[in-house]
Order: sequence, then structure tokens, then C-alpha cells
Amino acid sequence: MYLSRTIRKLTGRSRLTLFTRPLARTSPIIAIHRSYATAQLDLPALDRTWRQKWSEKQRLAQQRRPGVDVSTTPADHMYILSMFPYPSGTLHLGHLRVYTVADVVARYHKLRGRNVLLPMGWDAFGLPAENAAIERGIDPAVWTRDNIAHMKEQLELMNGAFDWSTELATCDPAFYKHTQKLFLLLHQEGLVTRQRAVVNWDPVDGTVLANEQVDSEGRSWRSGAKVEQRPLEQWFLRITAFKEALLRDLDELAKDDGWPERVVTMQKNWLGRTKGANYRFPLTVDGPRRRLDGLDELEIYTTRPETIFGVQFVAVSPDSRLVRELARFDPEIQDYLETVADGSPESDMRGYRIPYVQAHNPVGRAAPAFSHQAKPLPVFIAPYVRGDYETGAVMGVPAHDARDFAFWKRNSSSGDVKYAISPDPAGSCAVDMDEPYLGPGYMTELAGSYSRSRSDEVAESIVEQIQSETQMAEPRTKWKLRDWLISRQRYWGTPIPIVHCRRCGPQPVPDDQLPVELPKVDHHWADGRVGNPLESATDWVNTSCPKCRGPAKRDTDTMDTFVDSSWYYMRFADPRNRDGPISEAAARTRLPVDIYIGGVEHAILHLLYARFFYKAIMGTLYPKDVVANNGAGRVAESPHESSHEPFKRLITQGMVHGKTYLDPDSGRFLKPDEVDLSNASEPRVVASGKRPVVTYEKMSKSKHNGVDPTAFISKYGADATRAHILFQAPVADVLNWDDDKIAGISRWLRRVFDHVHMLAAAAAQDTSGGELIPFHGRAYFAKSEGEVNAMNEDEATRWEDGICVWRAVQESIASITASCDRVYSLNTVVSTLMTLTNVIIDKPDAPECVRRAATINLVRLLAPIAPAFAEECWSVLCPNEGMIFDETLPARWPVPDGSLALLKFNRVKCTVAVNGKRRCVVHIPAKPADVEGDGALEAWITEQILEAPEAREKLSTPENDIRKATKVFIMKGGRGVNYLMPKIS
Ligand SMILES: [Zn+2]
Repeated sequence: MYLSRTIRKLTGRSRLTLFTRPLARTSPIIAIHRSYATAQLDLPALDRTWRQKWSEKQRLAQQRRPGVDVSTTPADHMYILSMFPYPSGTLHLGHLRVYTVADVVARYHKLRGRNVLLPMGWDAFGLPAENAAIERGIDPAVWTRDNIAHMKEQLELMNGAFDWSTELATCDPAFYKHTQKLFLLLHQEGLVTRQRAVVNWDPVDGTVLANEQVDSEGRSWRSGAKVEQRPLEQWFLRITAFKEALLRDLDELAKDDGWPERVVTMQKNWLGRTKGANYRFPLTVDGPRRRLDGLDELEIYTTRPETIFGVQFVAVSPDSRLVRELARFDPEIQDYLETVADGSPESDMRGYRIPYVQAHNPVGRAAPAFSHQAKPLPVFIAPYVRGDYETGAVMGVPAHDARDFAFWKRNSSSGDVKYAISPDPAGSCAVDMDEPYLGPGYMTELAGSYSRSRSDEVAESIVEQIQSETQMAEPRTKWKLRDWLISRQRYWGTPIPIVHCRRCGPQPVPDDQLPVELPKVDHHWADGRVGNPLESATDWVNTSCPKCRGPAKRDTDTMDTFVDSSWYYMRFADPRNRDGPISEAAARTRLPVDIYIGGVEHAILHLLYARFFYKAIMGTLYPKDVVANNGAGRVAESPHESSHEPFKRLITQGMVHGKTYLDPDSGRFLKPDEVDLSNASEPRVVASGKRPVVTYEKMSKSKHNGVDPTAFISKYGADATRAHILFQAPVADVLNWDDDKIAGISRWLRRVFDHVHMLAAAAAQDTSGGELIPFHGRAYFAKSEGEVNAMNEDEATRWEDGICVWRAVQESIASITASCDRVYSLNTVVSTLMTLTNVIIDKPDAPECVRRAATINLVRLLAPIAPAFAEECWSVLCPNEGMIFDETLPARWPVPDGSLALLKFNRVKCTVAVNGKRRCVVHIPAKPADVEGDGALEAWITEQILEAPEAREKLSTPENDIRKATKVFIMKGGRGVNYLMPKIS
């Protein structure tokens, strides 16, 4: 509500308040401000002017202070980072949104006097470059460099304060030399292993394919051949060695608004720790063969050991060893297996009961009290049990598992369900329940001595008891996390710095031979060949063994690009270091990243890999926890225990959706030239004249709803575009992009601009014009009640307007500072600034010094969002004060001046009417608490009104003598009084 009112006020056609209203009575400036009124606001031109000035300033600063500044203390540093882009060649609105958020936050911290690092670089290795190379016959390096150059040009248009002196590209040998060093460091620490794993093999092209190159039908993107799975020796990073630390430190990250809860949960699920138990179920066989060698029991893992009392059957996978063994001499099983062969889905609930095999619940043997559980259990073959899951067997608990329930209802003769857990604290068996009960609850009488206990509290004791009585149970913790396969059989990545010697095995490339550079294979691209060109680059592959000097071959795999993105942020802290990835001093001063901003689609893999890398690298290079981290400050015993975390705060921003037009008849997405937008609020389909269906969708070529951010910026200016992006949606939400809505932002900026010029004109009349006159709100507004009460009407009005303006300033400073700290609510910064603008402009009678100080604060507060515009306004208001964004000058961000408590106007503006007719407006004191009782308030108010000379004058005639009124109506706490007078005969 509040917001929409503000917007309406600002986006409604400007009333040009400044030039039609009388200005402050004491400032006779109407004659000169006209020349300023014609000042044109050309936002794109301001962008160009100020970008040039900033870059000149940055050039000079770098001459004075080359390299990484590690002189100040870490507390003064802010490292703000947006996830670095893949150089696809074009900047899209999603990029622009994330870089705008990062830049606004960075500029805010700069204005607070902090030493901010806001770097930019390129995630430049990867498959698209290689595909483009094959299609166009050019070197991926050339394609990538061209794209980087183009995107950099586009990025520079957005008025970002990126520190280009730190720029890096992961495909640059100066960068990947250190990626290789880090690989070898992990290798040395035993964190790199070589194992067999399957790859996608294209038998026609004779090459390994990335998962993205295999379509949904399992065919190669290029040859169309059915892809095969082939085992290959590949490199793995042992992320599983860090699983405990990765899980443990998520709790730290979740604290104090650090990482979004959603991301923390996703990471926890990916790590996937479950505390469960292994149970052993003995089997008895009474069929074609009495004995099954080595198959007299089934080992079954469960994540809910307390449901052991509800087991009603055992199910085994068609691929399990037991089934394969039985099928050898049981034709019925063979028949059944044929019906479920070839990957039947997990939803397949057809089962086959093996008539002559029975299983026995271990709990039935644990204690006499559980002997009712000793009844043999049927054993089914069930396709929903996967062969690769543990032993390929599950304990079937229909009461507490949805799939077991569905299977049991379909395959058992009785279908009765035994509930071991109930929501009822009395533990009554809910026998007539028609569905499984999945939550925790209370044990039923099936659980004997455990009945009525909370199910989640007794799980461990149950396992312990069965273990000690029967040795048929064992507590087990399991993890879903697997080691990270980093080998890619591709060209465009960091070469793995290993040579293979037939005599010595895999050997690390010696440090002085790094980097292992990618060989030029121009003929490969020119011929449009597929496959990994490194394999055929014989000059490059053939080398000598660093150990025995005999002939050896280079490893032809390259690293997953996620390896590059796992450490690039460390390199930004020390980008020109030739000796190592990062020096201890730079790590100590600059790391970890304070605020990391990017899309939630990277919530799992990138962020988990980066956390692992940081723990492993920092824990190995600087094991004494030199880098401050989340205040934990403990010294890790081994790198695996490292509590280092790379990103203190994580901000996930939402996507940008584009306006999409659908033909109501065909449901087809319409192209821009198929929609008549001459009346923006009444779009029409050109062909039919009908109203198209308008929706907001993820931007894509097929939906014709993309927006070119650079075209938009050159039309409206970078600052208006930035404000528009922030204003339209909270940072974490989807932004529905609507070009037209920028009009409100442009009008707001023009209002501010006109107002600034008018104030400057007023100041020009003043001898002190151009100096930044310090205004002390607390001193200025500290007037005694007596002084205020002695004011005449004009003075009181001006005083009240001044209070109103300054209160808006103080409240805006507090609210905008909080929003910039929080980041997620940056959209409210724009609306707060709009409201503040209204208050300042709508109170032209406020004292000149207050309006000026208020406007200066407005300009400072909007500087992070609209930096060029703010610099321009600042240069007009305070031409002798240098730039706003100049780190050598005192910090420009305003802080509350402690005046808020003073900013209450203790007088009420009271409209006095007689017989309903307005006579005058006077200020009266606010009602004291002791004015009470019949007629007391009326008498007091009348007395106060008559204190004002204006009232005495206007109400002097006998027919207006309010002291003689027959009735007094007091409205709105004294803001209006109506006197009914006796009829004069
Ligand atoms: Zn050798």
C-alpha cells in the first residue's frame, strides 16, 4: 500500500512543483532558477562523462599503489564477489542483475570507507568453446578471447566499479599453471586418486561424450549413435575425506543471515548423511535346494531401525545375488524375471513371492518379549528394490514406508498392516488407518517394552539391544556424497599435470615444468574432427619420465571446469603472484569472500566443490588457520578437519523473466513484429486483432522474449537501468522484466536533478555557495519549548516543515543502511529514496539549510545505485568537494546524527471554523495530559487558539467570538475545531 502510493505519486506526470509554487519566502531566487530549469538531463551522457573520470582516477590510484593492498587490517576490507561469467559472447539480463547487486553493495561499502575488492574474471574453459571450434574450424582460444573482449565492452557500460586490474581468465596459462599446482598439492596430500569409472562412449565418432552431449534417448548429439558405457581409468578428488567438516560447518554458515536456509538444506541433502542400522535376516529354504551356499541370510540397511517391529515381508531386487542364484534352477523365477527385464521403472509394484524361502526378523530372537515377532516373513522379488542399493534387499514395513505400503497392498493376500509407530502418545495401534504413517511418533505395543516411547528417541537403544542379544544388528552411518570425478576427455580445459611411465607409473610433472600448456591443434579444428585432439597430438603426448628419464606419455585428460571455479576467488586476492596460487599475506588480508552473489542453480555442486577446495588448500598451505574464519578460530588437527569456509555470506538472486506474448488461437509464442504495441496497455495480435495472452517466462530465443541489456542501457542510461532492476523485485525473487516501467524511475531522477539545480541556484546567491557546509541536526533542532512556542505562524510552519524533512532524512539513512547491509531488500532502497525525494520537494517552506543538507544526504544515499547521476548532482551541489567515489577523501555515507528524538513538533496545526466556515489556521501546543473532565478540553483549546495574534484578529467581531460558542466540536485530536455560535437576533 505504502509503496504503491509512493510510486503513483512519482510516476504520475510531474506537476513541476518547483517552478509553479512560490519558493521559500526568504529566498528571492525565482528570477535565476529559470536558467537551471532548462538544464537537460541526458543520463547516457552522464554515464560516459563519469566513467571516464573514474577510470582516470583508478589509473592514478594504481600508479600510486600497484598490486594487492595488504597494508590495512582485515577488518577494513570487504571482498564482494559475483559468480564469474562464462564468456558466451553476450551479456544477458541475468548477468546484469547479479552484477548490479554486487556493484551496489560494493559501492555502499566504499562509501562507508572500506577497502573494497570487487573483481571480475572469466570462467573460460568448457564445452561450448570446443563445440564452436569444431563447427567453425577455429581455435577455442580465439573464440573465447573474442567473446571476452566483447562481453567486457558490454560490462563496462553498466557503471560498475569492477577492479579490472585483477581480471583473470581460467584458460590463461598464467592462471591454469596454478590450477595444476593445486592439483599436484592435493595429489601429494593423498587427496587425488585414480579409479575406473564408466564414460559415455560414441562408437561412431570414437570419442568420449560429456553428459550434455547425450540426448534424452541416449544418443550422441553429433553422430546420433547409441551411446555405450565404457570403463576408463580416471582421476578423482577425495571430497569424501572432508564430508564431516563440510556437514559440520553448514551450521556455522546458516547463522546470522549468512547462507540461505534453502541452500544449506540442499547441501545437507547432497552430503546425505543418514544414521541407520544394518540388520541381518536369516533365511530358511524349503525347496528345490535345501541350502544356498553363502546365502543363508540377508543383510539389510535401514535409515529407520525403530520400524523393525513393523516388518511384514522382505523384498529382494531382481538383480540381487539371491535371485540370480535361485533362477538358475527355478523356471518360474526365470519366467517372472523376463516380465520385469530391461529396466522396469521403480514404480513397478508387481512382485513375485518365492514360495519356498522365508526370512526371520532378528528382533524376534532378541528377547522373549519380542517372540511374537518370530513368525517367518514372506520373501518377494520386487522391481522397486534396486540391485545396486546395498545388498539388493529391503525390509518391508508397509505401515511406515509409502512404497512398501503400495507393494504390500498389491501383493499380500490379507493386506493387513501392522503399525509399530502411532501419532497417539498412548501408543495405540491405529489399525484402520488406510495409509502409511511416515512421521515420528510413539511406539505401539508391538514394540513391547518400548511402547509409548518416542520413536526417534529409542532407535539407537533398539539397535543396541538387538546387537547385544543376537549380534544381528549394527549401527551404521551412511553418506550419499561420492568422490569427485574430474577427468574430462576433452581439449578445452586445464591439462592434468601427470605423465605416465610404463616403469614408474603415473608421475607428477615437476614444478619447474609447469604449466603444462595445451598444444596448438589448429589442423584438428580446421578439419572439423571430433574426439579429444590431445590424444593425437603426438609431439605433446610423448615426453620423458621425470623419475627414470625413460619414455613416457602425458595424461590426455583435462580437468572438469568446476575445478577452476573452485578456487578462482582465491586468485583474485593475489592475481599477479607468479610463485604460487596465493600468498599467505594476501590470504590473511583478503580472504574469505565477505559477500558472494549468484544464482541458486549453483547451490550444490559449485558451492560444495569450492568449500571442499578451500578447506583442503587452506588447511594444507596455511594449516595454522591464519585466515580468520567465522570466528571459530580453532586449529585444525588435519586438513580434513579444516574449518575454513570460502564465503561468509551467500546471496542467491532470482532469475529475470521476459514479457511473452502468446497467440490466443494457436498458443504459439509471438515474435515482436507480430504484436501491435502502439498502445502499450492494449496489445493486439497483428494478424487477428485479438488480445494476446501476456505472461512472464524464462528468457529464450524460442519465446522471443529476450531483452538486450546494452541496447536498453544506451537508451535509458546505466543508472536508471540499475535502479529499475533493483526496484522491480526483491533480490531473491524472480524479476518480471517490463521495459515500460522504467519511465517512473526516469521521472524520479529528473525530479531530483531539477531540484538539485534549483538549490544550487539558491546557493549561488549565497556567499558560501559551493562549500560543503556542515549541518548539525542535533544542534540545529535543539530548541526549547519556550522558543518554539514563541514562534509566529510563519516561523512555526517553516520549523515544522524542517522537522518533517529532517526526520525523513534520519529515517531514510537508518532504513537504507539496513537494506544495504541485508542486500535482499535492496528494492526498498529505491522506494525509500523516492519517498524522501517527495518529502524534500513537497516542503519548500522548510529552512534552506535543512533542505540543502537533506538533498546532499539524498544524493549520497542514492550514489550506490545511480553512481554517475549522483556524481553529477554532487558536483552541482558541492563543486569544491571532489568526487563522491574517491577513496582518498573522507567516507561519504551519511550516519544518523542522533537528532531523531528531537524531531517531534510539539505543536498542532489547528484549523479553526465558526459555524462550519473556516476562519484561520493556527499552531497550538499539543494537549497536556492533565486537561481532563467536562468542558476542560474545549476551554483549554479556545484559550490556546486565542493566544495566536492571527486568531485574535480574525475572531475579534462579536459574531465570531468563540468564547461565546454554544457548542464546540474538536476533531482529529485538535487539528480542527468547529464552533457553533448562538443565533444573533
Ligand atoms: Zn619412469
